[in-house]
Amino acid sequence: MNPALTLGRNEEELISYDPATGAEVGRIQIDSPGDVRAVLARSRQAFGMWKTTSFSERRRLVMKAREAILAEIDGIAKLISSESGKPFGEAIAMEIAPVLDLMQYFARNGEKMLRPAKIGIGLYALLGRTSKIVYHPLGVVAIIPAWNYPFSIPLGEAVMSVMAGNTVVIKPSELTPMTGLKIGEIFAKAGLPQDVVQIVTGAGETGAALVEAAPDKIMFTGSVATGKKISAAAARNLTSVVLELGGKDPMIVFEDANLELAAGAAVWGAFCNSGQSCSSVERLYVQESVADRLTKMIVEKTRELKQGPGDLEDVSIGAMSSERQMQIVEDHVEAFREAGAKIEIGGKRNAEIPLRSAGGDRERNFRRPLFYQPTVISGATNDMRAMREETFGPTLPIATFKTEEEAITLANDSEFGLTASVWTRDYSKGRRVAERIEAGSVCVNEVLYTHGIGQTPWGGFKNSGRGRTHGHAGLMELVQPQHMHVNRIAILPDAWWMPYSPVAVETFRGFAKYFASGSLRKTAILLPQLQKRIRELLKGKEDGTRS
Ligand code: NDP
Repeated sequence: MNPALTLGRNEEELISYDPATGAEVGRIQIDSPGDVRAVLARSRQAFGMWKTTSFSERRRLVMKAREAILAEIDGIAKLISSESGKPFGEAIAMEIAPVLDLMQYFARNGEKMLRPAKIGIGLYALLGRTSKIVYHPLGVVAIIPAWNYPFSIPLGEAVMSVMAGNTVVIKPSELTPMTGLKIGEIFAKAGLPQDVVQIVTGAGETGAALVEAAPDKIMFTGSVATGKKISAAAARNLTSVVLELGGKDPMIVFEDANLELAAGAAVWGAFCNSGQSCSSVERLYVQESVADRLTKMIVEKTRELKQGPGDLEDVSIGAMSSERQMQIVEDHVEAFREAGAKIEIGGKRNAEIPLRSAGGDRERNFRRPLFYQPTVISGATNDMRAMREETFGPTLPIATFKTEEEAITLANDSEFGLTASVWTRDYSKGRRVAERIEAGSVCVNEVLYTHGIGQTPWGGFKNSGRGRTHGHAGLMELVQPQHMHVNRIAILPDAWWMPYSPVAVETFRGFAKYFASGSLRKTAILLPQLQKRIRELLKGKEDGTRS
């Protein structure tokens, strides 16, 4: 990364700044690779104890952590807001509330989800065999999140990991280290045994050291470029990785949609968290006949939004998290302009927000204000560069389509596939279109928020990721399934055992023809041959005993 764009880092410590005011939020030592290895070793040692801790004790501690969050909800929201720039209310609505729900869900349901599960094994059951799956924890789970949801994403993944019996090491983003430390503090307050959840701090190098230290699983949230680096490094130790990567999420609005609702959804979906959500609406496709009306409604709604420091309760759009991110947004808006799209509203930094504190720090660390006006762009087309690369900022480009088929083609014309939404009053059309969209989550008449439903799986198609977090599928990423197979009538040798013979080969032909059909009726034909083979094996055994 260009050092000029790096906030608050010197050789020994990270300094976290409020992007809205420039005030210092806190500073913390950078962990060296040696420190990280030592943390991982302690985590592995704690795993030995934690994996044998009963589920009810794990549940009790997670529910205690929940209480600890509720007891200081405003303080936590303020911390998240001050490190990330998002509005205080958004920190509660989009980070704290969803993760509290996730905590209660996995505390209440995790045991049932992890209970050994019987598997139907068809005709093998008639031979007296049973099979079941027993779920074992993996060991040490390393969590490397991005800065945009610095509380809910790592905390949710940590909760699911510890519920499944793993220990956890989190490396928060260098932009939000204090929020990461808060997660450790909450678990400590809840009484979680030492080293079950640990936090290491630093920038990308610390994350790389964590990957090198060979944890048993890596849960990564971030860019495609870093995801590829982490996958390559993890492969050296065969560490498996869940990748939650970028998005360029489409919203399709048909002419029969409730346009008033669709306009409100587009504004929230594109501008919440200053557009810095992996599932932000980054491309809006509207049916040509209603394009002007919808665009006008969106522009009017955007005009009403107040932008400013996130601690003011009537602010809807806060600061962006970093100068680096601002520059990507500026570049994309410029690219839209140059390609002939029209900026309907916004389109530049918002320099009018008054500085309220820490002017000195601000001067030192922020070259320009970190507020970007919410920006609506019409006349966008898929061949424009900014319609293809992830922006991760408060921009809403609008393109048009004529037919259902064209809408699907345009939406799928992307390297990404995280989420999408379809807006129509015709639910069967909504579902039909949704099924053809290449994305991990598709909403009909809803937008963006499904990461907040911890009960449902989260993850992307195409370059938006590999694996899943949340829901049953997410929990399964955090355990290793053990197949336990039992022969309850172990009195005869198996027909496929050695020594082989012509009788054996004939029996195997029968297996292929009849038993492998799965049909009991067909398999009955095989019984005489099977008896012959077993007799042969038993005779061999008797002969062996006699000699
Ligand atoms: P980055 O890929 O830059 O960083 C993500 C995390 O990886 C940070 O903690 C970062 O540390 C760390 N990191 C950086 N380099 C390395 C390395 N070589 N080895 C190990 N760790 C490393 O992403 P951003 O933080 O910029 O996040 C924005 C991206 O995240 C967007 O593309 C967005 O779409 C995606 N995202 C995806 C989500 C999903 O669920 N699919 C959800 C949220 C965001 P540091 O910050 O200290 O450099």
